[in-house]
Amino acid sequence: MIGLWRREIGIFLLLLTVTSIIGGMTGLFFPLTCLLLLAVLMRQIFQINRFERWISMGARGSYPKTKGIWEEIYYGVYRIKKNEKRRKKKLGKMVDQFRQSTEALPDAAVVLGAYDEIEWSNKAAREVLGLQTSDKGQRIPNLVRFPEFIRYLKSGNYQEDIILPSPVDSRITLSVRIVSYGAGLRLLLAQDVTQLKQMERMRKDFVANVSHELRTPLTVLKGYLETLQDLDDGTSPLLTGSLEQMRGQTERMQHLVDDLLLLARLETQKKKSQCVNVPALLNQICREGGDFDKSARHIELSLATEENIFGDEQELRSAFTNLLENAIKYSPDDTEVKVRWYRNGEAVVLEVEDFGEGIAPADIPRVTERFYRSEVKRNRKVAGTGLGLAIVKHVLMRHDARLAIASELGKGSRFSCHFPLNRVCS
Ligand code: ADP
Repeated sequence: MIGLWRREIGIFLLLLTVTSIIGGMTGLFFPLTCLLLLAVLMRQIFQINRFERWISMGARGSYPKTKGIWEEIYYGVYRIKKNEKRRKKKLGKMVDQFRQSTEALPDAAVVLGAYDEIEWSNKAAREVLGLQTSDKGQRIPNLVRFPEFIRYLKSGNYQEDIILPSPVDSRITLSVRIVSYGAGLRLLLAQDVTQLKQMERMRKDFVANVSHELRTPLTVLKGYLETLQDLDDGTSPLLTGSLEQMRGQTERMQHLVDDLLLLARLETQKKKSQCVNVPALLNQICREGGDFDKSARHIELSLATEENIFGDEQELRSAFTNLLENAIKYSPDDTEVKVRWYRNGEAVVLEVEDFGEGIAPADIPRVTERFYRSEVKRNRKVAGTGLGLAIVKHVLMRHDARLAIASELGKGSRFSCHFPLNRVCS
């Protein structure tokens, strides 16, 4: 390139020198120099004009024949254009491949714009959500009209997915999730979970049926054991011990079955909502807790608010009783258990605090899982089913409340149930 410039300048200087010499010899120095400059200028204007025409036509095809620096300029632009074309082709191929793979996705995918309008949808979306290719640009709430979906879409909170029937076939169950990305764009994903839901329903039915069927034989066993214990005159310590063991185990099994049935009910049945007098309920539970606890432990109840909660009394009773029984079970006899009912900003809170053995940090997130019991307790044979906190969690979920657990090993635990203020009633 520099060589070309040098050549161009060289030619110009040579022409200037020749013109000066001829001009000096003929006495026409000034007009001849002007003529030369004019010729050079005209040539450049002509080249610029030709270049501008070529560019304005999209710099397509081969460039006009020319020499020197202008040929280099034409070639530079031609090369940029060619590279760009190649890149475009590559990108187009990639976009095509991406389109093909998203079209082949088994899950429905829809790209939504800032106004909930459909920007793009794949084949599965057209099949399970009933969208058409021509629906591009239409607002999705006008096409998928379930109120629950519209609420979810408007909420802007897409942490969890929602379960919906397919608008095309109500036998298909969909799990719908929205993911935000880019500037105002959202990707809606819908997965067919019909089979999963069916299996879940079967599992729930199975557990509920088995638990229910186990109830009668257990009651019979317990009845006979009590009769045998009444008949036992205590002459054989082995018999007395065995009968006591059997009674204890039957009682444990009965608790398990009761808890499983309660959980099954919580998962399937509608709750009976009414305004529950929580202070009165807590008074009663603490009194009963005192009876359940054989030691001289002090249960301190503090009612800082008179608020009541709209919900199911039976369910709330089970949840609160479980928390209190745990506090009693997992703390030494000579420690105190504190139960508080108070209002705290955006929530009314029930808190059960004990000064017992506490829970290891690794166990805290897991204690609400079904059948989860930390090893320490199992070794020490503290009676329990491992279902209590699972019941608490379910009951709270059904009351839009959340459970918070604060605990430190060797110091104690604090379980708090936070009820939203819209649950408060009078
Ligand atoms: P269970 O008490 O029948 O074992 P839960 O579901 O009520 O079952 O509790 C699960 C586990 O959580 C318990 O086994 C125990 O390890 C732990 N836990 C619950 N409450 C407390 C508490 N107040 N203090 C210490 N550990 C507790």
